[in-house]
Amino acid sequence: MDNTYDVIVVGAGFAGLASASAAAAHGMRVAVIDRQSGAGERVRTTGILVKEAAELAPVPANLTRTIRRVRLYSPDLRHFDLISPGYYFLVTQTAGLMGWYARRAQAAGVEFIWKRVFTGARRESGLITLDGGNLRSRYLIGADGARSAVARQFQLGRNRRYLVGAEAEFVGVRGVDDCLHVFVDNRLAPGYIGWVVPNLGGVTQVGLACRAQGRPQLGGFVKKAARVFDFTDARIVGRRGGPIPVGGRVAPFAGERVLLTGDAAGLVSPLTAGGIHTALHHGRLAGRAVARYLDGEIADPGAVLAREYPKFLWKGLMRRAADQGIPDPLVNLVLGLKPVRRVARLVFFHNRGLASVEAWRELFRGEERA
Ligand SMILES: Cc1cc2nc3c(=O)[nH]c(=O)nc-3n(C[C@H](O)[C@H](O)[C@H](O)COP(=O)(O)OP(=O)(O)OC[C@H]3O[C@@H](n4cnc5c(N)ncnc54)[C@H](O)[C@@H]3O)c2cc1C
Repeated sequence: MDNTYDVIVVGAGFAGLASASAAAAHGMRVAVIDRQSGAGERVRTTGILVKEAAELAPVPANLTRTIRRVRLYSPDLRHFDLISPGYYFLVTQTAGLMGWYARRAQAAGVEFIWKRVFTGARRESGLITLDGGNLRSRYLIGADGARSAVARQFQLGRNRRYLVGAEAEFVGVRGVDDCLHVFVDNRLAPGYIGWVVPNLGGVTQVGLACRAQGRPQLGGFVKKAARVFDFTDARIVGRRGGPIPVGGRVAPFAGERVLLTGDAAGLVSPLTAGGIHTALHHGRLAGRAVARYLDGEIADPGAVLAREYPKFLWKGLMRRAADQGIPDPLVNLVLGLKPVRRVARLVFFHNRGLASVEAWRELFRGEERA
């Protein structure tokens, strides 16, 4: 068997699957290696797709639930609803969704090598040879998540700032309406938020994230959520969680015959901590750029992607502000105010931030009738 590929992708998350599919669709021989034994075996993410991510590929309806409303709670549990015309989120049966992306990649010709851990690699004779002997490629894509071993091996930029998220999946929670329930609480979730999300099949996801210096107080947050929803017959059926890089794009994210994408490249919104859309979109661009490089069409995929990968400048600034933590009594006072609601709508419903005309309209749009 020939173990030399055009492209090896390390990581079968959203970014790895998107980049592998794109490279294979451009005629490359592509392998994805992952330490897991199958796609979605260990899900870390809440898995909510913003509208922009959902529109990249029509995902199967039986794996998703459409949510159009965000209910935002102040620390003292007063709340108001946010909607934006035409906008929606997809809550997902995430393991199934990742399996679906993997099958699409396989249909495009991608080979999967499961239970294979990337431990190191070296450049030799114009190829990259992975430690452990038998795998070689002309190009290596590191899509191996927030603490990328590929970045470490090739002395590329590394994520330095994180949030840490923790989530439990419950069955039996009653009274959870069709909203993303979002809780601001600087004591339990300093620097970020808590959430209660109705998923498919009677599952409710309850989680929170906080600055990496703290520890997410999941137990405390569940107690707080139980003041709003009925947990009498609830039991935990799964757990998710992990680090979320929020320091913005790493530098450098590319070197000779190697580049990073997804969380490994820091492509996560520092403000909202959403990374699935960027993983899918920029992962795809990365796979395409590498294929074009290997076909001799472009000289430097890193330079092409430097123009495409987001830098998150204003979201990075807002992250620094959020890290300072706004005292809960102040949030209680201001959260219901009209200008604050408008900014909240902008944050939740406009993935592209102030870069889109729609986002500016959102700032000046009146309240919608719920
Ligand atoms: C608790 C939490 C909730 C979140 N909720 C959302 C959300 O609702 N919506 C949203 O848009 N974003 C969310 N995010 C962020 C989002 O999940 C990530 O940005 C996105 O999943 C990153 O995808 P990725 O493919 O880059 O990395 P990952 O999904 O981390 O995939 C990396 C893959 O690489 C493999 N791997 C790692 N190291 C090695 C190695 N050495 N050898 C072999 N394989 C390896 C792993 O097994 C994994 O399969 C959340 C994150 C967390 C932690």
